[in-house]
Amino acid sequence: MPANPVYDVIGVGFGPSNLALAIAMAEAGEEVTGLFLERQPRFGWHRGMLIEDATMQVSFLKDLVTMRNPVSEFSFLSYLHSADRLADFINQKSLFPLRVEFHDYLEWAAGRLGHLARYGHEVIAVEPVTEDGAVTCFDVTARNGADTTTYRARNLVFGVGLEPHLPDGATLSDRVWHNKDLLARVERLTADPRRVAVVGAGQSAAEVTKFLHDRFPRAEVCAVFSRYGYSPSDDSPFANRVFDPDAVDQYFAAPEHVKEMILDYHANTNYSVVDTELIEELYRRTYQEKVLGEPRLRVFNVSRVAEAVETGDGVRATVESLTTHEKTVLDCDVVVYATGYRPADPLRLLGSLRARCRRDERNRPVVGRDYRVATDAALRAGVYLQGSTEHSHGISSSLLSTTAVRAGQILQSITGRRDAPLALSGWLPGRAIE
Ligand SMILES: Cc1cc2nc3c(=O)[nH]c(=O)nc-3n(C[C@H](O)[C@H](O)[C@H](O)COP(=O)(O)OP(=O)(O)OC[C@H]3O[C@@H](n4cnc5c(N)ncnc54)[C@H](O)[C@@H]3O)c2cc1C
Repeated sequence: MPANPVYDVIGVGFGPSNLALAIAMAEAGEEVTGLFLERQPRFGWHRGMLIEDATMQVSFLKDLVTMRNPVSEFSFLSYLHSADRLADFINQKSLFPLRVEFHDYLEWAAGRLGHLARYGHEVIAVEPVTEDGAVTCFDVTARNGADTTTYRARNLVFGVGLEPHLPDGATLSDRVWHNKDLLARVERLTADPRRVAVVGAGQSAAEVTKFLHDRFPRAEVCAVFSRYGYSPSDDSPFANRVFDPDAVDQYFAAPEHVKEMILDYHANTNYSVVDTELIEELYRRTYQEKVLGEPRLRVFNVSRVAEAVETGDGVRATVESLTTHEKTVLDCDVVVYATGYRPADPLRLLGSLRARCRRDERNRPVVGRDYRVATDAALRAGVYLQGSTEHSHGISSSLLSTTAVRAGQILQSITGRRDAPLALSGWLPGRAIE
């Protein structure tokens, strides 16, 4: 490789989405050059929520490769084989591995492609490289500690994930956490909490509630949410088809009102819902504690945290009933917001180039079926999105279900559009390609 190559692909972020793309590139017969820039110091998939007994919400067959290439060496089964656990896994008779185990699988796959990744590299800017009036490449600047480095590529693939969401007025602190940091925060506690509050009614909130209830056997755990009760996720087979690769085709082709209808009907396959087993376990605990006269897991349903004020040695959370407006003051050691994630503007890193990307009437990026952002004609270099495409490609966009297939489709689009020869010409940042 020349000292300053022009890559075919620079991936921003090296989570499962771009890892799947890196594998697809490695498996492609033709030479496609790429580099993946990841801000974390090492590979990590939602490390803060790697609760020991939490399981995947998706079949292991929806790993990084199998739906695209069932004979790939990067499959979960290959990983199990290399870890000498294949037979033991089969005997378990479950499609849903522990999240800890799936993390290990992802790390194993990322390790095999370590030469394509630069960890500790946060992408902070993207500049156009212009030839004869057209943008044919991007200069991508990444910060690594005090240093910055600029890399050049013909295509950018954003796989930057989602951002933690907090309700209006909530702010994070040493005692007010988002669940994304759960495990690291718990490890740093200097004393066992006496009371914690968990805000939210989705899978993560229920997992955090159970985890804290287990971990601190003398603490009161208060679950606060606006629903009447935790609701089960619909993982029945017909509904589950909404996560199929074919469903993306149908969704993409559908008129806007039908898209909204599909998302509405099937939101309960993913949003604000919980595994039935976990719901039953939490209910069993509250009932048992009621019988024993020692309620420790308290549910404040149809409620919200109206205020959470730091008091020096704790957080005073005011919980308000949405039905009666009655207020209950809870002096907590910790409040955990398990209130989900939202897509950030996927194009925020594009700087002046953002204005050249097309937006729909609701200001969302217009994205082709091949996940390429629609731009003006003179922006010829490609910008692709992994995630942040729920409005155009449907509910599986930010999940693992279609990761393998999507990576293949993006790679196909990139190689299909490639008209310039792949010669790795040398270049200097800010200068046009010679
Ligand atoms: C606790 C939890 C459990 C989940 N379980 C499941 C599940 O069982 N099944 C399922 O289908 N989905 C699940 N999800 C959904 C989840 O979004 C996907 O599993 C998956 O993480 C999506 O992969 P991704 O690569 O698109 O995003 P991410 O995994 O979020 O990866 C994005 C990466 O980009 C990096 N990054 C961001 N900005 C920059 C930048 N400027 N420069 C460099 N790097 C950057 C981040 O550090 C991160 O590593 C879960 C989510 C959570 C939070």
